[in-house]
Amino acid sequence: MAVSSVHQQPRDRSIIDNRAPHVARLFLDRVQASPDAEAYRFLDGGQWKSMTWSQAGDAVERLAAGLIALGVQPGQRVALASSTRLEWILVNLAVMLAGAATTTVYPSTNADEVGYILADSASVLVFAEDDAQVAKLQANRAGLPDVLTVISIDGLSDGDWVISLDELRELGAEQLRQRPHAVMERVAGIRADDLATLIYTSGTTGRPKGVRLLHSSLTYEAATVASIGDLSADDLQLLWLPLAHVFGNVLLLLPLQIGFATAVDGRVEAIVDNLAAVRPTFMGAVPRILEKAHARINTVARADGAARARLFDWAVRVGHRATAAQRSATPMSAQLKLSWAIADRLVLSKVRARFGGRLRFFNSGSAALDPEIAEWFEAIGIRVLEGYGLTETSAASFCNRLANAQLGTVGWPFPDTEVQLADDGEIMLRGPGVMDGYHNLPEATAQAITSDGWFYTGDIGTLDELGYLRITDRKKDLFKTSGGKYVSPAAIESTFRACCPYLSQVLIYGEGKKYVTALITLDPDALAGWAATHGMSGWEYRQIATATATRELVQTHIDQLNSRLNRWETIKRFAILDRDLSIAEGELTPSMKLRRALVTDRFGSQLTALYD
Ligand code: AMP
Repeated sequence: MAVSSVHQQPRDRSIIDNRAPHVARLFLDRVQASPDAEAYRFLDGGQWKSMTWSQAGDAVERLAAGLIALGVQPGQRVALASSTRLEWILVNLAVMLAGAATTTVYPSTNADEVGYILADSASVLVFAEDDAQVAKLQANRAGLPDVLTVISIDGLSDGDWVISLDELRELGAEQLRQRPHAVMERVAGIRADDLATLIYTSGTTGRPKGVRLLHSSLTYEAATVASIGDLSADDLQLLWLPLAHVFGNVLLLLPLQIGFATAVDGRVEAIVDNLAAVRPTFMGAVPRILEKAHARINTVARADGAARARLFDWAVRVGHRATAAQRSATPMSAQLKLSWAIADRLVLSKVRARFGGRLRFFNSGSAALDPEIAEWFEAIGIRVLEGYGLTETSAASFCNRLANAQLGTVGWPFPDTEVQLADDGEIMLRGPGVMDGYHNLPEATAQAITSDGWFYTGDIGTLDELGYLRITDRKKDLFKTSGGKYVSPAAIESTFRACCPYLSQVLIYGEGKKYVTALITLDPDALAGWAATHGMSGWEYRQIATATATRELVQTHIDQLNSRLNRWETIKRFAILDRDLSIAEGELTPSMKLRRALVTDRFGSQLTALYD
């Protein structure tokens, strides 16, 4: 069943047809089109500073010349191990202009896996954010004969293997003095079907696989989003997502195509302050960040006494009714219009002010978004547009549009992307965004992509008659209980997410077992608010999580969940962990997906105890 093209019509098809052949050209065209406009906003000594496109163009050209001076050849890989910051962006663009390809490495990746990625990609240079990243490379040096030089972004030269970013800039300046056209000559040789970036999928199991994304796929992503018309040069994004992940990576390409500015700061804990200071008009997010913001605002609203809490709840209810009417195109009564205006003035506008006051929408991707969270945001006046895609499809292949978003779905496919459902409901995608293949893994590539270009996503979904896609399952995660019944942990986890406001993470377990169990962690903010009203004010998370009252609270939500499940899927027993799962401990991927195998292994004794 291929989706009819009527749903895929872009507002401006010519943007896709005339798209830049490669990322270097996309960037150079942007610098030429709006040299004096703001390109990037970044923190320097705690102050936000700006850089124009023409300044970015000069900085990138110098860095690219430095790479050429260091001997980087067209098509070679240059690795980048850093958190989200201005230098990440400029270095990545410099690699593009030098005709090379970027390999992305998360700063949280352990030394062993960093060694694997650098060797598998045969990277010839590595940019390392700081001494901690350099130390991981030193630990692997013997196994990395291809790595000629390491460039430390914050650190200094060691007079041997490591040079500083300033030294690279000096090399670049010298190169340009001697060969002013060195970089532009390189750019002239880049082709649309050259490798642009090699992104290692963070992988919930096993060794990561290098996903080969070509220039043509990246410029397609940028052009297809631009063609939809929901973003303009006047927008301003706040970018905090890990740039080693494809979602963040693509959010860097959109400004090159469309021309808006990007404020960049990768610190997750600073998002709320940054929203208020930067006042962006949109932001890409993963669902967990939206859940946290929702929990925090609800906790704060309850901290000022019962009267304020009632006013807040009333205002959100009114917002819900008004936006539900708008969604279903039902006329609003005069009474509802009036209440909405009052609710907005007294409460909702103040909540929006916490997000800077200008936010038009969040883009949510990378995992399933609970529709109730999306509805709550809509009720306070901020849209949430959910999208869907994979590293293997250069990020989003589907996205909701402002004009016709449907909550609970991931929207329509991008123009020129085709979708089909296999007999078992697996989503298959074909189009310019699909990867070239897995690096060095021809068999895995042949398994994933058919000879006529269809990519098997491993996700299960349904398409409605208007072409909206719903993601219902993840094929790879299904397990069978000892009773021979299939259980979809992802589906149960997302149902639980929707019915337990105190939840942070949940892992559903039961492969080959008699019954299904769950490991649970609770959201520290939401939990603290509840604990304060249950005689546990000021207690630490660990104490609250292990209290009997907390167990009873979770049990009531488990009961609600069980009432919605098939008998063989119901959670018979659960354990609440005494700390939350984290990226730092490796239990969540940097895009905040649960690493099932690792968590199951690490908390094996708690799981075993559930079957005693
Ligand atoms: P990654 O390659 O890390 O971006 O992961 C891709 C996977 O994330 C997909 O195969 C899906 O399982 C999941 N995913 C991405 N977006 C969504 C979404 N909107 N709803 C549910 N799952 C999603």
